[in-house]
Amino acid sequence: MKLTILSRLMIGYLIMLALVITVSTYAILKLHEFNTENQYILKIDNSLLNHKKELADSILMQRQYEDEHITTGNPSQSDAFILAAREFRKYLNEASSLADTPKKRASLGKVKAYYENYQSLIEEETRVARINQSYDRKWYKQEKENVSAEILKKLETLEGYSWQDISNRLKMLGEAGVSARSLVILMALSTIVLGTGISFFITRSINKPLTILVEKTGEVSQSIFESDLNISSPPEIKRVAEAFNLMCGKLKALDKMKSDFFSTVSHELRMPLISMREGANLLSEDLGGLGTEKQKRLLTILAEEGDRLIGLVNSLLDLSKMEAGMMTYDFQRASLEPLIEQSINEISPLAEAKRIVIEAKAEGRLPRIEMDIERILQVLRNLVGNAVKFTPEGGEVRVLARPVHQGVEVSVTDTGPGIPRENLTIIFNKFEQASAVGLSRAKGTGLGLAIVKQIIKSHRGEVWVESKQGEGSRFIFVLPV
Ligand code: ADP
Repeated sequence: MKLTILSRLMIGYLIMLALVITVSTYAILKLHEFNTENQYILKIDNSLLNHKKELADSILMQRQYEDEHITTGNPSQSDAFILAAREFRKYLNEASSLADTPKKRASLGKVKAYYENYQSLIEEETRVARINQSYDRKWYKQEKENVSAEILKKLETLEGYSWQDISNRLKMLGEAGVSARSLVILMALSTIVLGTGISFFITRSINKPLTILVEKTGEVSQSIFESDLNISSPPEIKRVAEAFNLMCGKLKALDKMKSDFFSTVSHELRMPLISMREGANLLSEDLGGLGTEKQKRLLTILAEEGDRLIGLVNSLLDLSKMEAGMMTYDFQRASLEPLIEQSINEISPLAEAKRIVIEAKAEGRLPRIEMDIERILQVLRNLVGNAVKFTPEGGEVRVLARPVHQGVEVSVTDTGPGIPRENLTIIFNKFEQASAVGLSRAKGTGLGLAIVKQIIKSHRGEVWVESKQGEGSRFIFVLPV
């Protein structure tokens, strides 16, 4: 099942949204992790460092007041030594509950053991001092010195461990930060690449069938009605394509019907028309000098109009045959110059009557062309005839032939009214007449250029017109060798 344009767009946007959300969530989670680590450092190691400082201060304080405490022998609650000792225990307990590694716990355990030691020394000395004033003070002093030095040493070790942990954590954070940054950049880049890729494919899947449709529409405008539009596309465009095929089929049938109609009618008209024209000519001859002026004029009009109608019917028949691919061509290698000359000679009476100068020129040596002489002469007659027909009195018509890459190019340039831009291609369609300023549409049939186009096409050549309204026209055709 093909997805509709809406679902394609929705899926594309959802995928891109999901990618963006994934990258953002990852970045947020990482930030959160870093924050937790920071908090941890602050909560554990920083507090441990503070506690270590308090413990060291407290032991020093106890050392300072221990003599006073021992000699008074009557420790009161306000005794500075007792207060410091209480502080020491409180900090030691807190530090023990904060200690997060076995090493730190071991250090604190040792601090505790040494401190117990210190406390028992104090108690013992207090007791001994009470009984015997002249006890061995020196020994106790030394012992207390040693124990407190050990306590301070163990506290230093604890501090060392804390700093070590802080530095490890910071290092880990740094490394994790670097890898998280690389990962986020990578994810962002892949999101951009993937997003661009997805938009490209979605746009292409919509754009491609549309382009084909536009091309086909262009063909229809040139009367090519092939209903073979079978494109893989979203359902909306597929429906348009189906309607398009249906329309092409109907147009084709209509076109065929029209061609058949014209060909039958013109065929049926040809013979009676020829008989009528011949009849008029015979009558005119029979009358000789006898008829009245009016009768002669009427007979001339009859013969002229008969000629015009026969011309029209012939053109219609020719075009029908060409369109149906039934026209037979007699190809032979020949030179173009005599044909150009002949077409100019044929039109020269009309050109002279309109005081139009016709100039023919060949640039360089023209190669001989594989062509049907009669048909190419018909092309030249139509183009030169149109040029003279549309150019006002006193104008100029130039026919130029020159060799081009693998062929010959012939251009017929006039100083006529020119053709509006929007009509440059349609005048090659049958019955199309560009309504140029000051010209009556009734002057022609609109078949001449359609025939020209068919003939040139059968010669594998090309024909086109370059013109600007008010600046004359140049009809150009190229025939391959
Ligand atoms: P017709 O000349 O019988 O009308 P054609 O097919 O020969 O039919 O020409 C189609 C239309 O193209 C003409 O009606 C005219 O509007 C335009 N056209 C052709 N040749 C010229 C020209 N040399 N200058 C201006 N318009 C021209």
